Amino acid sequence: MKALVKDKAAPGLWLMDVPEPEVGINDVLVHVQKTGICGTDLHIHSWDRWAQQTIPVPLVIGHEFVGEVVEVGSNVNDFRPGDVVSGEGHLVCGRCRNCMAGRRHLCSRTEGVGVTRPGAFAEYLALPMTNVWHHAPGVDREVAAIFDPFGNAVHTALSFKVLGEDVLITGAGPIGLMAAAVVRHAGARHVVVTDVNEHRLALAEQMGATRALDVRTASVASVQSELRMQEGFDVGLEMSGNPAALRDMLANMAHGGRIAMLGIPTEEILVDFNEIVFNMLTLKGIYGREMYETWYAMSVMVESGLDISPVITHRFHYSEFEQAFATAAGGRAGKVLLDWTE
Ligand code: NAD
Ligand code: ZN
Repeated sequence: MKALVKDKAAPGLWLMDVPEPEVGINDVLVHVQKTGICGTDLHIHSWDRWAQQTIPVPLVIGHEFVGEVVEVGSNVNDFRPGDVVSGEGHLVCGRCRNCMAGRRHLCSRTEGVGVTRPGAFAEYLALPMTNVWHHAPGVDREVAAIFDPFGNAVHTALSFKVLGEDVLITGAGPIGLMAAAVVRHAGARHVVVTDVNEHRLALAEQMGATRALDVRTASVASVQSELRMQEGFDVGLEMSGNPAALRDMLANMAHGGRIAMLGIPTEEILVDFNEIVFNMLTLKGIYGREMYETWYAMSVMVESGLDISPVITHRFHYSEFEQAFATAAGGRAGKVLLDWTE
């Protein structure tokens, strides 16, 4: 089968013929149709320090996908050929304290599809049945392809009550954009999205933001007074990993505000802890998706009218992967998809 492989410990990716995955007794074999390019894939492509320390070479990469089941192992009863599925890319150990308690997203011994085990940028992917998610009939296949990052957005956005609340989202990357649509769907009042990229800020308006704010030219505080907010944001979703964005957020929260942090900082961030202590803020770190409450929430919100499709801005055939990766890295795109059919 064709697959995008990190074949050498060097920048780049290689489109190659590799053997089809073996299907274990607990596995589901998926014929991949569409995949999404994640920031993680860009790191693997450019071969930065994180990638060099993390990725075993050679490896088929990629973890955002939708496809159809073509074969199941002998222990698998509830998946059938033709089912439309995506998959949770974190494989948990099943035996640690958190796993045994049903808190699988807190497992400290996870493996990652397309990160430490073979991934989804391929014609076929084998995944344990415990990680396969059935889509509702008629699901938009492009939306289904990005359930993984959509799940990051939902996990973060629904960490705290947003009904009637004013929400600040720092970072209008694909995940921040989807989070804007989610909190809007979940009943937030004002949704302010910040970034330093005008293309992405324009998308934020399409995704339901009350205000899309370029922090190079306007302050979060000025929007607060424009919107006549009483004393600050009730909920903050940090989705940039940027130090200035986090400090902006801390300075603009209401007393008792709650912050969910998804963005991955690339450096240490200096913050004024007085703002956290005296304003009685709650900060919560977010990783991955809750298994499988986040997946349930995604499916039912899509069924009840949540539309995240404007975040998908570019589509390429897998053979055009170099162009697709350059587009995703270029900063003018939302989500970039690769098509694996034909
Ligand atoms: P992205 O890099 O596409 O988006 C980040 C955005 O932040 C960019 O549009 C950038 O212009 C913007 N930004 C930069 N400086 C800013 C500032 N001062 N104020 C406001 N915005 C600023 O990333 P993404 O794919 O949307 O993911 C969002 C973040 O979440 C990234 O940091 C990513 O690494 C992280 N992430 C975390 C998890 C997890 O499980 N915790 C999973 C996926 C991604
Ligand atoms: Zn575990």
